[in-house]
Amino acid sequence: MRLLIAMMKHETNTFSPVPTPLARFGGGPGPLYGEAAIRAFKSTGSGLGAYLDVAERAGAEVVLPIAASAPPSRPVEDAAYKHIADTICAAVEKGGFDGIMLDLHGAMVTESLDDGEGALLRRIRSIDAKTPIAVSYDMHANLYDDMIVNATVVNGYRTYPHIDTYDTAKLAGEVLLRAMRGEVNPVIAWGNVPMLPHVMRQGTDDHPNQELQARCNAMSREGALAASLFTGFPHADIANAGLSAVVVTDGDRALAESLRDELLDRAWVEREAFVYKIEPLAQSIARAAATPPPAAGEGPVVLLDHYDNCASGGTMDTTVVLAEILKAGLDNVAAFAIYDPEAVHQAIAAGIGAEVTLSIGGKIAMPQIPEASPPLTITGRVKTISHGRFRNKGPMGRGVQMDMGPSVVLDTGKVEIALISRHVEPNDLNCLLSLGIDPMQKRYVMLKSRIHWRAGLGKLAKAVVECAGVGVCTSDYSQLKFAKVRRPIYPLDLPNR
Ligand SMILES: [Zn+2]
Repeated sequence: MRLLIAMMKHETNTFSPVPTPLARFGGGPGPLYGEAAIRAFKSTGSGLGAYLDVAERAGAEVVLPIAASAPPSRPVEDAAYKHIADTICAAVEKGGFDGIMLDLHGAMVTESLDDGEGALLRRIRSIDAKTPIAVSYDMHANLYDDMIVNATVVNGYRTYPHIDTYDTAKLAGEVLLRAMRGEVNPVIAWGNVPMLPHVMRQGTDDHPNQELQARCNAMSREGALAASLFTGFPHADIANAGLSAVVVTDGDRALAESLRDELLDRAWVEREAFVYKIEPLAQSIARAAATPPPAAGEGPVVLLDHYDNCASGGTMDTTVVLAEILKAGLDNVAAFAIYDPEAVHQAIAAGIGAEVTLSIGGKIAMPQIPEASPPLTITGRVKTISHGRFRNKGPMGRGVQMDMGPSVVLDTGKVEIALISRHVEPNDLNCLLSLGIDPMQKRYVMLKSRIHWRAGLGKLAKAVVECAGVGVCTSDYSQLKFAKVRRPIYPLDLPNR
């Protein structure tokens, strides 16, 4: 048996100014290919890791032409997309595969395409009309018809934070093998409803997504081979942004359609619970200041700078929340992180222990949102200098190599500020520990994240205070100028009936 396995992942924030060239795909110079990709992902908790394990158990020969994953940012440069899609399609053209397993995101927009994944799948199908294809998608996928009808089996994450990337791909791969052996005959039904669930309300330890995903799980005991509810990615101005559902059954189209309709109906009924209420920043910080210090064994208060999450396309260099923390005089704080390669370079040049005054952040213009974030002048000592590489502790992406680029910690006396030079969201404890910051010794930890921080620090936090700052993953959707998303759509237009 021969299997073609590939990864192409990018969550595109069409409001982001952060460029997406080919070099952004991968842990440094760009994507990984062939044996290097297999070595990097084998035995990790990633989707690719799962496909490789499924293939190994089946005794299959694997061809892995490319593994390309970039942190969220603006639409993918056409040349980068063409390179990734060409590499996958060149392998398909060579032929001789019994099955194809793809680890895709599902919310990839390119400079020329609103549906990057659908275009890839359509192209694969035009080269090879028959070989069965399994696809695993992120819960933030914005589904289009091409993403579904050109696949044999589709499965999506059921957790946010995404701690089931491995399980999602494993199930998709296993159903594909069963289909290849003629044991099942997958049929797929998908659909969407006109709603943009707020990202801050999508966590699967919260109502209503917890219950919705539990229902997807239960459907596998009621005849579904796979059932997925995609909350979608709202910071994408494309027609199909928003919530959708996909159900795969064994030859039973009516069942697939009725389970799909049930998921969509349940989500629509809960639409009001997917709306997020914003608290003014000064009020949030005052509330944090009034929180009693952690007792023995208690973790820090997490201050969530959720408008500037690099894993949603944020520049990770806005300073408004950090400035408010400094202004309020909060003590024993760690802040992760400000993306600023230039400031990192200056701190490294000054050396460990040196006192420096640096202008940090606020360097990337954000023309698509009405607010701006100025740079912040900080005086502190250089506490840590690091190459910025670590492996995820998990549970999210366990074992996957991460790269913050050259990184430093600047200590103002009250606040330890991590400065990094590649975008990494703080969803894993090792991003802090690798820089010599132990969050359990801090009274406050500021994180530029929305939901994924809960994977690493959720259980440790004494409390969380959500801080409305500035950034292109703004939680105030009235700041986003939507032109292409289908209208009317809840909550932008539709009355809550
Ligand atoms: Zn996601």
